[in-house]
Amino acid sequence: MRLRDTFRENNLKNLGEYIKRCMRCGFCRAVCPVFEVTKIESLVTRGKLAILEGMIEGKLEPTEGAVKRIFQCTICKNCYEECPAGVEVDRIIQDARVYLYKNFSSPAFDRITDNFLEKGNPYGEEMLKSIGDSSFAYFPGCTTNFRTPEIARSTKNILDKIGQDYRILQDFCCGSVLFRIGRKEEREKLVEKNIEALQGVETLLLSCAGCYKTFISEYQIEKEGVKVVHLVHFLSELIEEGTIKFNNLDARITYHDPCHLGRHMNVYEEPRRILASIPGVDLVEMERTRKNARCCGAGGGMAAGFKDLALSICDNRIKDAKSTEADILSSACPFCYLHLKKQGKGLKVLDISSIVEMQMR
Ligand code: SF4
Ligand code: SF4
Repeated sequence: MRLRDTFRENNLKNLGEYIKRCMRCGFCRAVCPVFEVTKIESLVTRGKLAILEGMIEGKLEPTEGAVKRIFQCTICKNCYEECPAGVEVDRIIQDARVYLYKNFSSPAFDRITDNFLEKGNPYGEEMLKSIGDSSFAYFPGCTTNFRTPEIARSTKNILDKIGQDYRILQDFCCGSVLFRIGRKEEREKLVEKNIEALQGVETLLLSCAGCYKTFISEYQIEKEGVKVVHLVHFLSELIEEGTIKFNNLDARITYHDPCHLGRHMNVYEEPRRILASIPGVDLVEMERTRKNARCCGAGGGMAAGFKDLALSICDNRIKDAKSTEADILSSACPFCYLHLKKQGKGLKVLDISSIVEMQMR
């Protein structure tokens, strides 16, 4: 079936109309991290939109090569911040991927999907068991559990230290990556099952920027009466009310805004407030920060599907951090942390949870 027909069949003609808003002005070229490292016009935002428009109108066949362009996007949303026409490329790309993934063979994305079907997480690991039944739940997420357990350890130590009663929810994954790589059927089943698993939860504490966006925007779980809190919100409140106090840390720290926490969810101030409240810390900003923060390259399926491209993007972010002469590069997402740590040779990379745990009195 041609892409044009699948769009029509699914009443997504308006996506084509929406794409027409793009004026081809090229402002997105200045910020797109994929274009920055490839310099390929068909990989920049407006190039991707032109490809999609051509496919929707039937002027361009959805060949493997053309469709691959649509998957080479970190969904960082930086182009949206620059776009005078307000084109929400992240949403367009995500929607389009649902209808395109069958036209593009990716062993990495197939493996992720198979792992979900067999084990319930993208890594194909055995799921852990959930513990406790408190209405306050800590959900570390699959990347934290299987790739960066130090973040879960630090968070649990902080919760224990302040005497917070909590359960640990770790027998399911939010499925963020399924949303990003267009696997609609699989994710719909998962959402239904996961909403059931959240019965009895009033507050859901998260370590991951991707989980945070997924539970709020995609699951819309707050409509079910679950309050979703990222660790940076939780810590920032505890510091403000005086529950958490810090020992001195003589260090220059810079903070990397995860795209899914910053541009996608507008959370910029809390992590900075936390770091700035540690006595002795000199919080320095990278040149590209907050709404214009450069993506680390890992999101949108890029780290799994296009590893070299993702790592080259990350190298640029590491350069940004090094140019501040910071001792520590911090972030608030296990996915960013993992990626930045991999490329940040000579630079100490720490999740904000580890810094707080280390300095808490
Ligand atoms: S900035 Fe927006 S309108 Fe301009 S080319 Fe890029 S996507 Fe199109
Ligand atoms: S979302 Fe990010 S990677 Fe994708 S086209 Fe826009 S700027 Fe480029």
